[in-house]
This record gives sequence, structure tokens and C-alpha cells, in this order.
Amino acid sequence: MSALAGLTVLAAYLRARHGPGARARTRAALEAYQARAVERHLRRVLPRSPFYRRRFAGQAWAAVPPITKRDMLAHFDELNTAGARYAEAVALAERAEQSRDFSPTLRGLTVGLSSGTSGARGLFLVSPAERAAWAGAALARVLPSGRLTAQRVAFFLRANSNLYTSVRSRLIRFAYFDLLDPLPAHVARLNAFRPSLLVGPPALLALLAHEARASRLTIAPRKVVAVAEVLDPLDAAAIAAQFGGPLHQVYQATEGFLGATCESGTLHLNEDLLVVQPDWLDEGAGKFAPILTDFHRLTQPILRYRLDDILTVRATPCPCGSPRRALAAVEGRCDDIFYFPAASGSGWALVFPDFIRQAVCAGGGPDLEGYTATQTGPGRMEIALAVPAAARAEAEADISAALAALCTRVGAVAPQVAYRAGGAPVLGPRKFKRVTRQMPAPQGA
Ligand SMILES: [Zn+2]
Repeated sequence: MSALAGLTVLAAYLRARHGPGARARTRAALEAYQARAVERHLRRVLPRSPFYRRRFAGQAWAAVPPITKRDMLAHFDELNTAGARYAEAVALAERAEQSRDFSPTLRGLTVGLSSGTSGARGLFLVSPAERAAWAGAALARVLPSGRLTAQRVAFFLRANSNLYTSVRSRLIRFAYFDLLDPLPAHVARLNAFRPSLLVGPPALLALLAHEARASRLTIAPRKVVAVAEVLDPLDAAAIAAQFGGPLHQVYQATEGFLGATCESGTLHLNEDLLVVQPDWLDEGAGKFAPILTDFHRLTQPILRYRLDDILTVRATPCPCGSPRRALAAVEGRCDDIFYFPAASGSGWALVFPDFIRQAVCAGGGPDLEGYTATQTGPGRMEIALAVPAAARAEAEADISAALAALCTRVGAVAPQVAYRAGGAPVLGPRKFKRVTRQMPAPQGA
């Protein structure tokens, strides 16, 4: 890492720990800081980005219609401020994925393809300074007590970008693990490395917890952080029970560093780094899709950008007292909302992934070790269950009853459920998801 990048990491680290946004103690102070930061950022971005300049002309930024990943890809060339072309950036990212050599850059810029589960994959450009700033902010939020003391960090990632591998330091030793390597290789390497901080997707952490229970894995990390996938409460409980809680979480996407847990283990949005406006999906249930306005990223600005995630607001304030919005969960993508035929006979009832999860876990009871739930057709689901054989029949009956009660509550016809064995986390090139909709969204729903 160059001296300049090192200084940028440190500056971002200090800003995330002690900057004016991080110091804000009330919601009003935080929002006043955000408003100033966005105005300052727009003065830098708009002269350089013809796309945003047109969009933001003559109206208040907070009310500009949001864009989506599709808009960002369609207008990539005149949206980014580095003069990069969509075709050359995609070609470079695809070459890197095929060769698994992620070091080439586009005139110094890191290019990443996000692992989109549906539709087009996102394309992201990041400058060295932005990479360093991300690393500094992430360290500030993730290191135990936020202190730059000697740490050994084991970091599992899908190696589809060199975004993360920029962090190196004498104080902190990093070991990067490719998720595509086999589990026994991870266990052997972890036992030798003995991390103080373990960071990886929940499916991997759940498998490691299982290895630790079987005494094959003997590490004792001081902190465990889940990233990159929806954290299912079932996995969170198993991981925390094995490694000592609370299980921490980072909410991170190629679109930005969006949230992290506080010392109490509550996930807070990083509203000192970006604005997150709610697009309410169900305000009564506290569920919204976030509209992001990042006030640091310049290469590929993220302004009034709607992310296809479902976030659930935490019902009670966090004891830490932070004015940053606290979340109960990042529960999945809007693409994974189930559509069941409405009980009224026409139209559809929407069922959030978290409601499916709760029904399966309540029905499965303490014997449930793992599951996947998939909507396969308008009135059909498939549920894979990992339960002891003696408990299977009762678990299936109880889950069907819990789903029927849920459907009554939301005004839907209860689905036909096909049960099968399975439900254990799978490591692979795709994200592991427990709740998935395979059926396309119905027309007009
Ligand atoms: Zn908190």
C-alpha cells in the first residue's frame, strides 16, 4: 500500500470514528450534517456528470426521482466522472472473472461486477482513494472496540473484485480466503492462522460453527462478523452460540458501505457516510427499500439510487444511543417477496421473506437445523428441512399450520408445500439464500 493510500485509510478511519457525522448525538444534528455534506458533494459531482446534472437541474436533491441499477447501467458512460466506457469496463471485469486474476485495473480504477441474483449484474468503478476510504471506514466500524491494535483478520470473500484486498498494514495481519476453496482447506488454514477477527458470509460461518462443534476447528476469535448475505436468525443463533455472541454484521454492497453493528450488536445504517431515505414497502411493518445518496463517491456517484433490498426498522431504540437508524434485519431482496393468490379470489397477497422465515422457524421448533423455502409457482412452495428423522413429520405439519395462519393474516390462499430433505448451507459461486422466489413476479402485482 502506498503512503498516500495509507493516509487515506487513516483519514477515513478517523472520520468514521470521530468526524462530524460520527459525533452527531441527535437525529437533527445528523440530518443537518448530511444536508451540508450532500450539497458540497453535488457541487463536485454535477459539473463532471452530464447524467446527474440533467437529473438534478432545478429541483431539491432529496426529491429527485430515484434511479435503479438498470438506469445506472443504461447511462453508465455519461454518469461516471472518469470517462470510462461501459463496454471496456465490462470486458475487463469479465476477463478478470474468467482468469481469476483480479489485479488489472481500468486506467487505475478498480472494476467490479456485482453478483446480481436477477436481471443485469451491476458494474462498479472505484478509484484507489475510494478503495482506501472504504477500507478505513470498514476498519473503524469492524475492529473490536474500533482500536487499531494488533489484529489477525480472516476475511472470506467471493474473489470477484480486488476492492477488498487493498487493506494491508504492519499492525493488522489479513488473510484472504477464497470462498470457492473446499471447507477442509479453510479449517486447516484457520487453525494455523488463529484469527482474532473472523469475517465472512453467514453460510460459511454456519459451516465453520459446525466444524468447531465437531472439534475440527479450534479457533477462538474475539469477534465474528457476518457480511455479504442475508443473516438468517437461525444461523445467527448457531454461530453466536459456538463462537460467543453477539454475532456482528456488516451491511455492504458494491453500492456502498451501508451499515454495521454497534457494540450492542444492533445493526445501524452508516448515515454519517451516506443518506438512506426509506421507500416504504409496508410502513406499518417497518419495511422499506433504501434510497442511497452517498456523499463521498465521485468516480461513480451514487445519488438517489434505489437499492432492491428489504430493510426492517428495529422497533425499539438501541441502548447505545446512536442517532443512526437501527435495523432489526436486512431481510433480502424485493425479488424474494412471495406472491400468493389473494383469498378474495382476485389479485395477489405479498408475503415478505421474513414472514416465511418466521413461519418455518416457528413450525420447525428447536429441532430445526437448517432450511430453504422457495416459491416455485403461484400457489406452490418447496421447503427443504434439516431435522432429525424422528421429528420430521411433526415439523412438516407444524410448518404447514404456521404458513396457513400467516396466509390468513395477510389474506392469501395457503400454498401447497412440497417438503424434502436438505436445507444445509452451501458454499459456491452464488450467494446462499434460505428464502427465494423462483416464480416471476405476476403481471400488475
Ligand atoms: Zn446501537
